[in-house]
Amino acid sequence: MKYECDLIEDLLPLYKDGICSDTSKTAVEEHLAECEKCRDIYEKLKDETVDELMIREKEDVIGSQSKFFKRKSALAGSIIAAIFALPILICLIVDLAGGNGLGWFFIVLAAMLIPTTLIAVPLMVPENKMFTTMTSFTLSIIILLGAICLYTRGNWFFIAASSVLFGLTVCFAPFIACRRPLAGYLKNYKGLTVMGAYTVTFCIMMICIGISANAPFWPLAFAICAPLIAMVWIIFAIIRYLPVNGLAKTGLIMTVIGIISFAGNKAAEYFTLKSATAAGVTVISRSSLNSAIYVATMAIGVILSVIGIAVGRIKKETDKGEEK
Ligand SMILES: [Zn+2]
Repeated sequence: MKYECDLIEDLLPLYKDGICSDTSKTAVEEHLAECEKCRDIYEKLKDETVDELMIREKEDVIGSQSKFFKRKSALAGSIIAAIFALPILICLIVDLAGGNGLGWFFIVLAAMLIPTTLIAVPLMVPENKMFTTMTSFTLSIIILLGAICLYTRGNWFFIAASSVLFGLTVCFAPFIACRRPLAGYLKNYKGLTVMGAYTVTFCIMMICIGISANAPFWPLAFAICAPLIAMVWIIFAIIRYLPVNGLAKTGLIMTVIGIISFAGNKAAEYFTLKSATAAGVTVISRSSLNSAIYVATMAIGVILSVIGIAVGRIKKETDKGEEK
């Protein structure tokens, strides 16, 4: 025989699909003519096509069934949503027409929006269930807060709504970013996107609190928040992008926490003292104890990162040595 059976067996799948070169094709045909063993293998390979056909058929049936169920569940979801939404809408119109603002009954109904979104929305949407459900859940809570705030004539709506938005973003953003279709678009930027969402919603919350607060809020808020936001981003960058081992990362994170807590604490202390002096209040400072804790954190962090980086180096060298 001109060719080894092993070689021909490797070529058979290509030959079957008609995607091999003419030379290979001739070689396979010549070999099949004289080798019974390879002929058997080729026949089996051809039979597998039938199996594949069966599998595809089965998937088609399952696909059309699942489409049918999706349509049914969308209908059920729409009916549930309508049952809950109609009384809310009617009550709102009646309340507004009465001219006395919202009644307490409207708040009870608005509260029903929350379970409605959790039950009806996942049934209604065929794709992106997670994203749509979480978004409408968040919206329904914000609507309820708005209704209560209007009813009680409060001025806390933006603080409450932005806090809810931030809190729910913290809970849901990682899940939403890791699910299709978002995961597909984001590819390697899931962590970055989640961090961006946290930062944006956190800033919105701080702005809302700042606008609503009567006290001289901004300088103190900035002194506390800016270093903390920076710290979270630096820790994220260390964990996600720095090519060092776990020990070195832990050490670096401890160092960063130490430095930024120290700086943030000093800044906050400065502003507290300033406003206290302005108000004529004496403040007993515990700053020397705090500073000692931060310096100790920094020192341990530096030691850990040095050990971590050294261990990494030594390991690299040994690996190289072993390769040689
Ligand atoms: Zn053969």
